[in-house]
Amino acid sequence: SRKPMVAGNWKMNGSLELVQNIASTIKSINNDDVEVVVIPPTVLLSNVVASGVKAGVQTVSEHPLGAYTGEVQASLVKALGATYTLVGHSERRSIYGESNEDVANKFEQAQTDKLIPILCVGETESEREQGQTENVVAAQIKAVIDKLGIASLNDSVIAYEPVWAIGTGKTASPEQAQAVHKFIRDLVSSYDAEISESLQILYGGSVNESNSELLFAQADIDGGLIGGASLKPEAFKIICESA
Ligand code: 13P
Repeated sequence: SRKPMVAGNWKMNGSLELVQNIASTIKSINNDDVEVVVIPPTVLLSNVVASGVKAGVQTVSEHPLGAYTGEVQASLVKALGATYTLVGHSERRSIYGESNEDVANKFEQAQTDKLIPILCVGETESEREQGQTENVVAAQIKAVIDKLGIASLNDSVIAYEPVWAIGTGKTASPEQAQAVHKFIRDLVSSYDAEISESLQILYGGSVNESNSELLFAQADIDGGLIGGASLKPEAFKIICESA
């Protein structure tokens, strides 16, 4: 019932050439069910949109507009043709100091401007070792629910990305990932069962063309948020076809 989705987060990588290569590869994907999204650096947004591929950006400002040098407003991202924006990616949280409150503010601004936020959550390695995974993930999600209400999750996607699995080649096992996805779905269900049932929850963290199929086969994993492998058209295609 939930549509599978695969989104490629290019982070600060990619080029004009890669936009063209990925667009022609995506057109050859043998899977009509999957929704494929490319999330390039924001300066390439228009090129991705022009290539006919569904697009998102990696972050937006929490402000509607104004004197915020270097920031990009969600309304303009929407006007240029994006459908999605990531909010709260772990690199934004750890490198740029975004708090749960900042992330909730960005989530709100994205929805105000009709972008669909992909809320990224996940624990660090030491948080997992200390048995804090569920607490951390719950706090990250509740920051949005407490501020904006459970209905705000209607037009959103959640991506579970354990920080220790990002860019490390150390992917969560399908069972480990499924356990957290189920925890997230149950948490949302404790507020609203219908929203929980329709909520797409993506897994991210060292997904590649060899491990995606088993991850995506889990009951509560509705697709993936792909970093490194989304820069390799052939690998990305295989991942999309496995969703
Ligand atoms: P990798 O797939 O490179 O581990 O990155 C995951 C990620 O952070 C996607 O947002």
